[in-house]
Amino acid sequence: MMMKSSSTLFRLFGIDIKLHISWWFIFILLGWSLSDSYFPQILPNLDKYTYWLMGISAALLLFISVLLHELSHSLVAKAKKIKVESITLFFFGGVAGISDEDMKPSVELQMALAGPLFSILLAGIFHLITIQNGNFIITAITSYLSQLNLTLGIFNLIPGFPLDGGRAFRAILYWHYKDLRKATYIASMGGKFLAGVLIFVGIFGMLSGAGNGLWFILLGGFLYFLAKMSYEQVVVKQILSRTPISKIMTKKFPVLSSQMKCIEFARKYSSAENNVFMVQGKTFHGIVDIHRLGAMPGSLQETTILEQISLHLNSIKTLTPQDTAYTAFKYFNEYDVGLLPVMDAGKIKGIVTRNSVMHRLTWGMKFGINVK
Ligand code: ZN
Repeated sequence: MMMKSSSTLFRLFGIDIKLHISWWFIFILLGWSLSDSYFPQILPNLDKYTYWLMGISAALLLFISVLLHELSHSLVAKAKKIKVESITLFFFGGVAGISDEDMKPSVELQMALAGPLFSILLAGIFHLITIQNGNFIITAITSYLSQLNLTLGIFNLIPGFPLDGGRAFRAILYWHYKDLRKATYIASMGGKFLAGVLIFVGIFGMLSGAGNGLWFILLGGFLYFLAKMSYEQVVVKQILSRTPISKIMTKKFPVLSSQMKCIEFARKYSSAENNVFMVQGKTFHGIVDIHRLGAMPGSLQETTILEQISLHLNSIKTLTPQDTAYTAFKYFNEYDVGLLPVMDAGKIKGIVTRNSVMHRLTWGMKFGINVK
């Protein structure tokens, strides 16, 4: 999935470190709450400027801690020859853009555990600084970071998918059952259960007047959404990657002349079942969507030919007969087209429409993935 609202900060070990826009929101909120209430409470009678400096340093160090947590996952992945493109830091933490290829349970287990274990190690380091140094301002900051890293480490070890602990849990289940879908299902139930507990605690906290109840509700809701979505992703991938392109490819399809006037195209096909058509000329190969005519005035339709409003095949991805429906699904999402040609040795063998992929998906969900 692409995160368009992220910007790249820098590159580390060949990995793009990105900041999601929601991170700023949490950074400002955290810095503010630390300077305005947390530090004044534990160290009274300092000036406002000092509190702000403490709040911002603590928030920045927490940001670095989360980054190091994600980096530990990623470096284990890289050591296992798995591609890591980016790490995105956002609202509730970070996500490593690790490619979604199927990995061995033992690899996923090590990768999942690396993050929380590193957070616990960081908690230990901050604890050592806390007890070793004599400066009470530094002590206040490092003891806060020690607590938070410990919380981050332990919370992430809870076996609720897609938390790290849930990934480790799924890896063990996968190793045991040899069935990724079943393993993910059980692990994501753990995630939903944890989400329910968080929401319950949040509601209880709000009713009893504790200040952070809303955070628990937000975190619980977010985790529930992630657990549901992550399981669905696994199901989608499994159904579609077991469907060969030939199962969803149409061999008979209308090919329109690239010289056809738009007005004629509109007259003949505006009420057709299909919206997207192949367009072919002497040297031109492309596809056209009837919706492209939507905003075009009638007078212009008389002078414009299909070639002018078609997408050239060079500008879109094409499928091969060896691809699966999952490849088509990814291309449809990435390139926002309604039709993809299946090419073999420079010739069009057939077409695959977005609808046929969706149809296959609904069918697979209803009747199971083993039906071919
Ligand atoms: Zn993690």
